[in-house]
Amino acid sequence: MRGLPQRLINTPDIEIWPAGLLKAHGNHDARAIARARHVLRRKRDGRYLAADLPEGLLPLVWQLRQEPGLNAALEAMASDVMHRRAGLEHVRTLPLERLHERLDLLGLMEDAYATRTGLSLVAEPDWLAFAGFDRYRRPLWLHNDAARAWAHMRDGAMRDGVLLEAISGYRSHDYQLGIFERKRARGLSVDEILNVNAAPGFSEHHSGLALDIGTPGEPPAEESFEHTGAFAWLRAHANEYGFHMSYPRENPYGIVYEPWHWAWRGHGATVA
Ligand SMILES: [Zn+2]
Repeated sequence: MRGLPQRLINTPDIEIWPAGLLKAHGNHDARAIARARHVLRRKRDGRYLAADLPEGLLPLVWQLRQEPGLNAALEAMASDVMHRRAGLEHVRTLPLERLHERLDLLGLMEDAYATRTGLSLVAEPDWLAFAGFDRYRRPLWLHNDAARAWAHMRDGAMRDGVLLEAISGYRSHDYQLGIFERKRARGLSVDEILNVNAAPGFSEHHSGLALDIGTPGEPPAEESFEHTGAFAWLRAHANEYGFHMSYPRENPYGIVYEPWHWAWRGHGATVA
């Protein structure tokens, strides 16, 4: 596996990380992770579940065998190895059942929300490409097509003397559900939260095709980004790389103006 581009293998309950991109949480984890190829990580809380070592799987939690979704994760890890040896790059999406269940539990009426906003549920891809690091030195994960286009676009901007920085790329359903669940636990109503946060499952970031972009010296995700040279450059050139601004002023979804949020929709031709 050495030398191949790094991937995040995604399953409904568990993510499989390249071990080299993870920080250890303790001495025991550190020794295991240093020798591991992959680390299995619970999506719901980020807990490290097991290290994939050359000699086999090392549990990092008690009762690993009872972990929901473990078999699916092990199968995905094995088939990823086979696919990559065969040079397959196809991206599939994961099923939405679990998301429906959790939105029900939260009391979020997804059909009503979809009708009101014109947004639809966004499935997660079954793997994501490593697209470098974001502003905060966290690994940036994107859909393979978006990762390539982002690299080209960043280079193109650089040639024009413009520095584009990734603020945030792929985000899982679990991540967005976690924000929602914590706010519910603090006593906020569903409607109060929806005024500020997109409903879990409806964010373009779940697809790995969307990216929040910044430039050094500017605060992240602020409307003031529209006054930067980086934004002017994006307005002029992002389309050439297949990126589009999803939420311009007065967009039909009722989402606030987000000059920093761009999604890759492709259109063939320009991304070589
Ligand atoms: Zn965004």
